[in-house]
Amino acid sequence: MTARHTQVLIIGGGPGGYVAGIRAGQLGLETVVVDGLPLGGTCLNVGCIPSKALIHVADEFAIATDQAKRAPLGISVADPTIDLGQAVAWKDGIVRKLNSGVGRLLAKAHTDVVEGWCTLVDGKTADVTGVDGSTQRITADHVVIATGSEPVALPAIPFGDGVISSTEALALTEVPPLLAVIGGGYIGLELGMAFAKLGSIVTVVEAEPQILPIYDRQLTAPVAKSLTALGVDVLTGTTAVELTDDGLVVEGSDGRRTIAADTVLVTVGRRPRVSGVGLEHLGLSMNGPFIAIDDRCHTSMRNVWAIGDVTGEPMLAHRAMKQGEVVAEAIAGRPAAFDPTAIPAIVFTDPEIVTVGLSPEQAEADGLDVIVGRFPLQANSRSMTLASDRGFVRAVARADDHLVVGLQAVGRSVAELSTAFGLALEMGARLEDIGDTIHAHPTIGEGLAESALAALGHALHI
Ligand code: FAD
Ligand code: NAD
Repeated sequence: MTARHTQVLIIGGGPGGYVAGIRAGQLGLETVVVDGLPLGGTCLNVGCIPSKALIHVADEFAIATDQAKRAPLGISVADPTIDLGQAVAWKDGIVRKLNSGVGRLLAKAHTDVVEGWCTLVDGKTADVTGVDGSTQRITADHVVIATGSEPVALPAIPFGDGVISSTEALALTEVPPLLAVIGGGYIGLELGMAFAKLGSIVTVVEAEPQILPIYDRQLTAPVAKSLTALGVDVLTGTTAVELTDDGLVVEGSDGRRTIAADTVLVTVGRRPRVSGVGLEHLGLSMNGPFIAIDDRCHTSMRNVWAIGDVTGEPMLAHRAMKQGEVVAEAIAGRPAAFDPTAIPAIVFTDPEIVTVGLSPEQAEADGLDVIVGRFPLQANSRSMTLASDRGFVRAVARADDHLVVGLQAVGRSVAELSTAFGLALEMGARLEDIGDTIHAHPTIGEGLAESALAALGHALHI
């Protein structure tokens, strides 16, 4: 076994680990990133990027199909077909380009990459088994655990034999004719909707009384309506029981029924990847299933740090990336803390949902006296020119000083509003600041200014 020493050892090259690797290298720290899989982690290889590519394919196909059937825009298209194998090859090309791009960024920062699996021996030592079978021991002044998360399996319906996770769903080369999705959260709805557009007959089974249970019903209602329009059967308040030769047996308040399915996609959440890393040798404090960290991403052991999905909710790539920056700065001795006002979240369904900060209900539950402004996108000219009039933009602000505490939207192409929403909250905007800002016309972003004006009681376009 060979041996080497480095200042910073990062275990995992996902959005958390690779960003930490780039920033640590930029700050002049000798850094090694270890990952047994291609750089970019879940997000780049089997998560954010592949899913958004598949959703784009499904959207384009749905538009073509709609033109062929109804020609609402006067465009005639003859009988579109989908070659999912080709679409997946296109998606794989994007992934490969990004894998090598991340490698180049790390090389530019003079950060080394070791392809292999890392097991911690103690808080300063790890053994790495290379993908080529080689072994090496790496000692480090600082260790950053960025091992991410993995899909949760259902014990009664284990993966294999037609039961797949998002990873396999993103590599299918044939559209499954009968797809049952267990879990109506982020992944179940993003992918379930995409496959419905590609031609699958989709049933979504959700245990809670509504889809996307972490969001309020005003936000989820347009998505539920769109699922119905796509012919997706959504069974809420229902759990999956077992898989038989006849299909997926589910149980709701009205008893048991069997759903015909050739493919079952299980998307009931993800859990932190804490086993197989040697954490048992460290005895770190835990926060439930996650590694406990402070606001500098420091664990309970000196000079052992943790970032990303392995440290808690929300399990989102941009949280992991920001923590990656923070941890590198903290290790370099700079004043740094992960202390965002809010973390934006987007559900890439059709329509999309974007949220930052508190919903009206959450603000009230926090004891805040709030005013709420809501602007329907039906009154937004840009939405109309995009052939879409669904959804709204909502502003939530403190009643006394009008400080904005939450911004939400649901509608076509609203995901990009996350930038303005995030900036508004992070910079402490008041409703008047948003209302006074000149928003370009015609844009969906005008809905943000209108929602602020609506909260102040003088919206212009409703
Ligand atoms: P990961 O990306 O999971 O990376 C961890 C890395 O550590 C992996 O590459 C793994 O191989 C490596 N590793 C683990 N153990 C070891 C070991 N012992 N030795 C060496 N290496 C190891 N988030 C968003 O913000 N937006 C989205 O649109 C979005 N879409 C998603 C869609 C899907 C289908 C899925 C599954 C997830 C999606 N996410 C999305 C979530 C996002 O992918 C994660 O939040 C993000 O990848 C977390 O980054 P991370 O660096 O913490 O971990
Ligand atoms: P999720 O937590 O979003 O949704 C899981 C859903 O499954 C929940 O609605 C839950 O009530 C339901 N459920 C749980 N057990 C069930 C059962 N036995 N039967 C029926 N329903 C059941 O989890 P996910 O969709 O697997 O996604 C995992 C994580 O990945 C997300 O929480 C998010 O952090 C991340 N992600 C983000 C994006 C994005 O940012 N656009 C996209 C995909 C994934």
